[in-house]
Amino acid sequence: MSFMDQVIAWEEFDFKDFFEKVTTRDVQRSLHRDILAFRDLLHLLSPCAQDFLEPMAQKARLLTRQYFGRTIGLYAPLYISDYCVNQCTYCGFNAHTRFARTKLTLDQIDQEAEAIAKTGIRHILVLTGEAPARTPMSYLTDAVRILKKYFSSIGLEIFPMDEADYRILVAAGADSLTVYQEVYDRKIYKQVHPGGKKADYAYRLLTPERGAQAGFRAVNIGALFGLGNPMAEAFMAGLHARYLEQTYPDVEVSLSLPRMTKAEGATAFCHSFPDISFVQCMLAWRLFMPRLGITISTRESAAFRDRLVHLGATRYSAGSRTDVGGYARNLEDSTVQFAVTDARSVDQITRMIRKSGFQPVFKDWESVI
Ligand code: SF4
Repeated sequence: MSFMDQVIAWEEFDFKDFFEKVTTRDVQRSLHRDILAFRDLLHLLSPCAQDFLEPMAQKARLLTRQYFGRTIGLYAPLYISDYCVNQCTYCGFNAHTRFARTKLTLDQIDQEAEAIAKTGIRHILVLTGEAPARTPMSYLTDAVRILKKYFSSIGLEIFPMDEADYRILVAAGADSLTVYQEVYDRKIYKQVHPGGKKADYAYRLLTPERGAQAGFRAVNIGALFGLGNPMAEAFMAGLHARYLEQTYPDVEVSLSLPRMTKAEGATAFCHSFPDISFVQCMLAWRLFMPRLGITISTRESAAFRDRLVHLGATRYSAGSRTDVGGYARNLEDSTVQFAVTDARSVDQITRMIRKSGFQPVFKDWESVI
């Protein structure tokens, strides 16, 4: 049984109706449970639970401290190619957007890596669009080998692959895999992915499982908030994370909450996902899965990220550039995948974390093989 069976099983569930009927008593009961079931997660994501954000935050803080201490892991994204054959209607890199596409040479990857490593960052997340003809396996493995010189942990956020291909990348030195389903609602998924390989919902959904089977030590999943009904998406993402945690207990599972931001060439409709819902979702996930990593990117504002440090977040991107070659070349007019809202440097974010009473962690893992 794969997670696809669970998606199908929940497909006819009327989230709106269920959420409307949740009572204060339901929320209180779920809040006080030690081990939360699916129904409890639904209660905590309901509008009624917005009156309980303070007690949810207190419990979330305790659980996060128990499992992660007072630490925030830091990483930086590194875009190495913006070629893409897909047509995602929410993304500035989609095949229809006209701009001068770039793919870094291996020397340029080395320069980017050096520039990032100078900031102290030791965890890197490598990103590409989906264009295997431009970024074939040989290019990706060479890139990973170069990055190994500078970083102790190499994450990949690239196009979904078969398990055998992932095994090659793990052997080259990559250790974590990020892949967002973007939207769990299959009807909306079809609308916003009108063509390209990404139109295959099931292949994408089962990508984290193929990654776990291939030997990645960590997988990071999530939905792009704004594409579907946010709390239904939050529930499905939570369900997916728990499925992965239970099926692959030796794999570290994390969730992200990327919110849609404006991007050149993007046309997708955006559901509102205000800060209060964002916080509620994070707290509900923490109570549902105490060991879950929660990643917050620079899509969020500096002031908001400062507050989230206390509410269960475990990993922040810092000093991010979302254009190809952005670190070493620092171009003003380059094309970005999404606009960075928190543009602070690694030093500034580190200072903020320390001032909040937490320890910034640059390196918490290293392959000894
Ligand atoms: S989201 Fe990824 S796959 Fe879709 S258009 Fe953008 S870069 Fe390509």
